[in-house]
Amino acid sequence: MTAACALRRLHDMARSGAPSLRTPLTELIDLSGRTAIVTGGAMGIGLGIVGRLHEAGASILIADLDLQAAEAVREALVERRPGSAHAVGADVSDPESVERMVSAALERFDSLDILVNNAGIYPMAPLEKLDLSTFRHVIDVNLTGLYLCTKAAAERMIARGRGGRIINVTSIDALHPSMVGLAPYDASKHGAWGFTKSVALELAPHRIWVNAIAPGGIATPGTGDMGGEALREFEAQIPMGHMGDPDDIGRAALYLASELSSYMTGAQIVVDGGRLLA
Ligand code: NAP
Repeated sequence: MTAACALRRLHDMARSGAPSLRTPLTELIDLSGRTAIVTGGAMGIGLGIVGRLHEAGASILIADLDLQAAEAVREALVERRPGSAHAVGADVSDPESVERMVSAALERFDSLDILVNNAGIYPMAPLEKLDLSTFRHVIDVNLTGLYLCTKAAAERMIARGRGGRIINVTSIDALHPSMVGLAPYDASKHGAWGFTKSVALELAPHRIWVNAIAPGGIATPGTGDMGGEALREFEAQIPMGHMGDPDDIGRAALYLASELSSYMTGAQIVVDGGRLLA
C-alpha cells in the first residue's frame, strides 16, 4: 500500500467514525470522575500506580498498613488537586479492615470504579527454614487478600451497575520462579494469576474487566530490603541492564485502568525489562 493510499484510508475511517479514530487519545486516558482504591499505595509500586492514576484525573483512596506513609501521600496529592485523595490504614488480609476500606471509598467519593490489588509481601524463605506461620502469612496477604478486596469491591461495582476495572499486581513469579527461596510467594502469585482469569470470566457480564500486571525487578523499599547478593544476581540477569522504576508499573496500570485497554480482560502484562527471557 502506498503512503497516499494509507492516508486516504485513514481519512475514510475518520469520516465513517471507525472506533479506532473516534475517541481522541486525551479522552482515552482521562480518568476524571472515577475513584480508585490502591492497596499498598503508600510506597513502592503502589505509589507509582497512585501517581499515574491521580495524574489522569482519578480520585484515589490510598490503603496501606502504614497509615502515616499513606497520609503523607494523601497530603501531596490534595495539594495538587484539593479533595482528590483519602488515606486509610488497611490490612488486606483482614476481612473487617477490607470492608472498612471499601466503605471509606464510597463514603468519601460516592463511587468505586477501579481497584488495584497491589499490596503484597515477598519474604525470602528457603524450604528448610520455611515455617507454617510464614507460609500462611504470605498466602493470607497475597492471595486471601486478593480475594477479600476483589469480592468486597466487585459487590459494590455490580450493585452500582457502572462496570469497573480490577487490576491485580502479580509478578513474573506468577509464571516462572525468578530465584530460589520464594516458594510461598510463587505459590501465592501463581494463585493470583489463576484467580485473575477465573474472576475475569465471571465478572465480564457486569462489564468489570479484570487484568494483571506481572512486574519483575522494580526498585522499591521492599526489594531494597532484600539487599545484597540476591538482588545483584537478579539485576545482572535483566536484559535491559537495570531495575525498573515504580512508574514503569504505573504506566501499565494507567493503560489497564483507562479506555486504552477497552477490549481486554483476563490478561496479564509482563513488565520486567525482559527478565523472564533470561
Ligand atoms: P513494598 O516496597 O514492600 O511496598 C508494599 C506496600 O504494601 C508497603 O507500603 C506495605 O506496608 C504495604 N503492605 C504490606 N502488606 C500489606 C497488607 N497486608 N495490607 C495493606 N498493605 C500492605 O513492595 P513493592 O516492591 O512495591 O511490591 C508491591 C507489589 O508488587 C507486591 O504485590 C509484590 O509482590 C509485587 N511485585 C513487586 C516486584 C518488585 O520487583 N518490586 C516484582 C514483582 C511483583 P508496610 O511497609 O507497612 O509493610
